[in-house]
Order: sequence, then C-alpha cells, then structure tokens
Amino acid sequence: MNANAPCSGPFDSFGSHVFSIRTMRDYLSERAYQSLLSTIQQQMPLDPSIADEVADAMKNWAIRHGATHYTHWFQPLTGNTAEKQDAFLSPTQDGAMITTFSAKELSQGEADGSSLPSGGLRATFEARGYTAWDPTSPAFIKTSSGVSVLCIPTIFCGYHGEALDKKTPLLRSHAALSKQLTRLGKIFGDPCDHTPCATLGAEQEYFLVRKEHYYARPDLIQTGRTLFGRRPPRHQQMEDHYYGKTPPDVLAFMHDVDCELWRLGVPAKTRHNEVSPGQFELAPVFETQNLAVDHNMIVMQVLRETADRHGFACLLHEKPFDGVNGSGKHNNWSITGTDGKNWLSPGSNPHDNLKFLTMLTAIIKGVDTFADLLRATIATAGNELRLGANEAPPTIICIFLGDQLTDILAQMTREGTATRTKDAGRISLGLAALPNLPRDATDRNRTSPLAFTGNKFEFRAVGSSQSCATPNVILNAITTWAVDEIATELEAKLAADKKRTLEQLLDDLLAQTLRNHQRILFDGDNYSHAWREEAARRGLGRLTSIPDAIAAFTAPDALKMLLKYEIFSERELHSRCEIYTEIYNKSVHIEAAVTRDLLRSHIGPAALRYAAELRAAALPAPPIARHTALVTDLAADLYTAAETLDAALDARDLPAQQRAMTTARKTVDHLEALMPHDRYPFPTYADMFFAL
Ligand code: ADP
Ligand code: MG
Repeated sequence: MNANAPCSGPFDSFGSHVFSIRTMRDYLSERAYQSLLSTIQQQMPLDPSIADEVADAMKNWAIRHGATHYTHWFQPLTGNTAEKQDAFLSPTQDGAMITTFSAKELSQGEADGSSLPSGGLRATFEARGYTAWDPTSPAFIKTSSGVSVLCIPTIFCGYHGEALDKKTPLLRSHAALSKQLTRLGKIFGDPCDHTPCATLGAEQEYFLVRKEHYYARPDLIQTGRTLFGRRPPRHQQMEDHYYGKTPPDVLAFMHDVDCELWRLGVPAKTRHNEVSPGQFELAPVFETQNLAVDHNMIVMQVLRETADRHGFACLLHEKPFDGVNGSGKHNNWSITGTDGKNWLSPGSNPHDNLKFLTMLTAIIKGVDTFADLLRATIATAGNELRLGANEAPPTIICIFLGDQLTDILAQMTREGTATRTKDAGRISLGLAALPNLPRDATDRNRTSPLAFTGNKFEFRAVGSSQSCATPNVILNAITTWAVDEIATELEAKLAADKKRTLEQLLDDLLAQTLRNHQRILFDGDNYSHAWREEAARRGLGRLTSIPDAIAAFTAPDALKMLLKYEIFSERELHSRCEIYTEIYNKSVHIEAAVTRDLLRSHIGPAALRYAAELRAAALPAPPIARHTALVTDLAADLYTAAETLDAALDARDLPAQQRAMTTARKTVDHLEALMPHDRYPFPTYADMFFAL
C-alpha cells in the first residue's frame, strides 16, 4: 500500500469547517494571502489594505458552507465561551438584501457586555466592551442542529483596554515567554529561525449519563454534580473499566465527536474508558498553546452537544459522583525553541544537554518560587471536591522528575556538574519470540500534580470543566520570569569573566539554582500522609482554602512579577480575584440552596410517605419495627438538615453551608440504603453507572 495514499472517509473532511491557511490560499489574492500569512505566523499587525478582501473571502466561504450569521467568539471570565450572532445581511433600497461583512465587522466588535463579569473594572453605566480578532487562531464554522455560524476567535477588553477575558493574558504571557526564550536561544548561539512558542495537549476527562437519568436529577441539572447518592457495592474497585471495552453506543458517540472535531480542525487522537464506570477521556495531538486552548473550549462544547444527540448528558464537572474518580484535564505543556525543537526533550544524553538542563532548572525555580500562584489557577469549587481524593493529586504543588533526571540533578547539586546518564535499560520478558522492550527513562507517577513525562510537563491538577487558559498563563509567566533571571545572571557572568566558558558558568549557576529550589521536587506517593507532613516541613502546600488560594494571584511577589511582564495590570488582577472568589461563593451557595430545596421537595416527602407506609403496616417483627423507627428518625433528620441549611444560607456562611450539606448528604445516603428503589426519588449511582 502506498504510505502516502490520500486518506478517505471522515479524515477527508479534516479542517473543512476552518478558514485555515489552506482555505485562504483558495479564497484570497496572492498579495492578501502572503500578508495574512505573515500576520498569523510572525504575529505582525493586519495590513488594513487587505482587511476588506479577507472579510469578503471569509464571508463567501462561510456562506458557501451554509452559514447565515457570524459571531465574535470570546472567552469571558465566566470560564465559558460567549457570542452574539449577526446575520451577513444589509437591506437595499428596493426591499431586497445583499450579504455584507466588512473589515471592521471582522476585526472589531462592540459588545454591550455589561452583564459579563468585570470584577469592578466597569460600572454598569460604562458598559462598553470590545472584541478584537485574534488572527493567530483561525475562524471556524460551528454547526448545531443544522444551523451554521461563522465564529471569529477574539479577545474581549473594556473601554480603557483592560482585559475582560482569558485569551488576552494568555497572548500576553506567550509573547513575554517567547521574548525570553529568544534571548536564551541567542546565548546558546542557536539558529533563530523560529518564533519560540509553548505547546499544549489538553487531555479531557468526562462522564456520560443517560439523558433520562440526567433530567430526573435536579442536582445534576442545577449544579453539574450529584449532591446525594450512595456509592453502590460495585463501582470502580474491580479496575475493569479503565481501558475496558467501550459500550457500542458510547463508541458511536465518540466517533461523532471525533468527526465533528476533525471538521473543526481539532486533532482529536485518543479515546478510551477512564477509571470510574461512565467515565471517558479524549486526548488531542498537541498544538501551539493559544490554538490548543481554543480547541479545548471547542472540545467541551462538541462533547456536550453530541452527547445530547446521542441520548446522553456529558458531565464535565470535576466531581459529579462522590466516592469514585473525578475528572481532570491533564495539561501537557512544553516549549518549542528558536531552533524549532522541543527544548524539554532530554535527548539520549540529558546530562550533556545544557539547554534542556537550563530549561528544566528554570521551570523548577519558577514553580518553587511561585507554587502558590500555580495553586491559585486550579482553585475552583469543582476542583476543591476532586483534588486529594480518589487518585487526583492533592493541592500541594510539587514536581515529579523520575529516576533518571533526579539522578542527573543530584550529580549537579553534589558535584557541580553532571557527567553521566543512568541507562533506563530494556525490559526483558523472558519470551524468546518477543524482543526486549526499551524502558522509558521515567516511570509515571499518577499521584503528582506536575509530572515530567518524557518531553513535557503534565499539570494534572487542572479541573475538567476549567478553561486551560489561566493555568497556561501562569506556567508561561513563571517560566518567563525564571528564564529572564537565569539569562540575566548568565549574561552578566559572561561579560565579567572572559576566561570561563558558557558551559562552566552554566554549571555553577544551574547547580546553585537547583540547591536553592530542590524542596519542590518529590517523586514519592503524593497521596500519602507522610508527604503531607514532609511538605509542611518544606513549607509547601500551605494554601488549603479556595479563597486563600485565589488570593495568591495578588500576593506582592506574584503581582510584581505579573506586572513586570505586562501579563496583567494591577486592576485586572484584583478584578480577577474578585470574580473567581465570587464564582466560588456563588457555586457553594447554589449547591447549598439546591440541597435544601431537594430535601423538602423530593427526599423528605418520599421518606415521610415511606415511613407512613411502614407505620400503617405496623408489622410487629423486631427487625421491621427497628427499620420503621430508623426510617422515621432519618426522615425527621432531613427536616433538621433543611433548617440548618436555611440558617447557613441566610447567614451567607460558606463553611457552615458546606458542613450542613455534608450532614444532609449522610442522612439522605443512609435513607437511600433503606428505601425501596421505586420510592427513592432519583436514579441511583448504580442506575447511572451501569446503564451505558
Ligand atoms: P503520555 O503517554 O505521557 O500521556 P502521550 O504521548 O499520550 O503521552 O500524550 C499525552 C498528551 O500530551 C497528548 O495530548 C499529546 O499531544 C501531548 N503532548 C505530547 N507531546 C507534547 C508536547 N511537546 N507539548 C505539549 N503536549 C504534548
Ligand atoms: Mg497523560
């Protein structure tokens, strides 16, 4: 077979709904095409003289694909995407219409976004918000229920240019990182023929439940998670779901998801069952960071919409079910340098790979110095329930490196330089017919929040429903800062000491830096109690509450660093803290209110009816009499729990609300175990887990 044979079937339509570089070539004049290409690839400003042609081409292409409307598609601080659709339509004098789409409509929009969160950046009387086209992420056509809309990825900012979205700081942090990496490339004498960039592959975990179950659970509808539900005797303990055979109708769903994503140019690659029953994962091929963040927003939307068409509901919440695994978003992050190569790729002799060791040391320094800031990026109500339970990493930020790199760094800190790389060796199976398998240089450590995995860092603590933007902003920012520090020191040393080579100076600098920051390295079991104690001794993981973690965004050192690289202004950062805290408070408050309401509207009445039934039967056998008394007591407890919630809600006391929810849940789950299945008012975990 010809290896280059054109692909067929669903692959044919890869990118068909994207106004990609390939599409532009067909729709634009050579001059406009070349100009737009340099805007995209070298991040040059868009030449105003071609803007009308680009807009017209985009409109014609979109209309040909059935689109009637366009929208500026942006990512406000709600964490979702936002849009306002306009038709490509202008009425004419004679009562007809023509299709129009001007350069101005393409490149800038004015959204009266006063109802989107601004965290005090704008009062409602100064409501103007602006969207502006980000040409580095291509426009695409989104189709749902047969309705097609041209989506133009944009940033969203206020009247005075303050960022009101997640994309603007991401682009700023990326530019800052790129600048420092270019500087490092120059020190190393690298060819500078590439603009350095960060890359991202965001693995997405999710749950599916049947739609009829979803609609029978007001807690799922209103909060995205189950507020009650007893873990059934059989759940994930047989370890047979992970990588198990995907049920046929789930596979059909996954196939549709992949096909739609491929049309949208999202390189969806891997699909499999996850650990909990009803839990699955989708992983894409990595891309440049900005595009990958946009694509992950698209992935979440396509998962939800496709699930609906297949009779499922897709749950993206971090902890939809208590007592089994939650869902994360493994944020695989790496660096492509000025030579176009992955600078986090250790090569076969990492001890000799100075650029790799410099990058690794910089990241260690950055993560150790700004661990609290990284912790802040994953501080959400959903993640609070997930992290530290059922195989999700705890909130203590630290780095896993694996044996080989740990050994190299130990040589550097002990001996000032590394001279050898431990051979990972081969795995012998003792089977004559099978070759020995090469062993990876690092094993996996599923317990670590930030693990080095071969040629990238995997930030595993990101929540499944989160936008990847903020975690990546901070990964970029702390690396920018650390590379800047190292480059500045190196340049000074190179200028002052002409006798010593770059290698010698680097050896000293890296060894010293590693000595200062090695407390952030931990390869052991992050779930263990011993690590919690050890981490506390090392001064790590102090931020346990979500409000405290969010406040780390504006801690003096963090603020200074983020201001220095112009990633955020002080007002922007403060407003973000306010918004994230507000979102957290509202999430908990809503959950507490839904819990209270369901106690009185569903569970309480069901329990009372059942208790009355038991008492009416008045069966004298002692176990039944005991059962009747217990059900009656628990039913009363439900109403006590509702009153406690009333008080906590009135007082707006979040910790009290959380405690009251826990108590209420215990009572409800106990009752669930005692009630006949047909009297319990909701589908149970067993119903939902095993109905796929
Ligand atoms: P692992 O087995 O360690 O999970 P995979 O090769 O399966 O690694 O990749 C997991 C995710 O990491 C995928 O989404 C993949 O695209 C992404 N990834 C691989 N290389 C890079 C890189 N250089 N930068 C960012 N993400 C990457
Ligand atoms: Mg992985």
